[in-house]
Amino acid sequence: FFFFYVGQSIRQVIADMRERRYEKEGIGSSYLFRVDQDIIIDATKCGNLARFINHSCNPNCYAKIVTVEAQKKIVIYSRQPVNVNEEITYDYKFPIEDEKIPCLCAAENCRGTLN
Ligand SMILES: [Zn+2]
Repeated sequence: FFFFYVGQSIRQVIADMRERRYEKEGIGSSYLFRVDQDIIIDATKCGNLARFINHSCNPNCYAKIVTVEAQKKIVIYSRQPVNVNEEITYDYKFPIEDEKIPCLCAAENCRGTLN
C-alpha cells in the first residue's frame, strides 16, 4: 500500500520560525518533514494520519519524494505486507546533528539515535 504524507508545503525560513513557535507553545514534537534543501512539509496543524507514524531503524515502510504536477510530495510505501494491527514505521533519516535524539525503536539493528 502507499499513502501521502499530507501537510502544508513551506520554505526553510518559515519552518525555522514555526519550529521555534511550536517549541514555545509546548508542542513537543513538531511534524516537519524535509522534502529537499528548501522545502519542508508541515503536518502539525493540517496533517493526516501519516504524521503519527513512528520511526524505526528496521521499518516496514519507507518514505519517498515524488513530484506531482510540479509539486513535491511525500509518499509512504510499505516494504512488505503489513498486518492490520502492526505498527507502521519508517526511517526518519534525520540529518546528523551534534545534539542526538535517542532512538527507542528496539529493533535489532537499532542505531541508537535518530540523527
Ligand atoms: Zn532505532
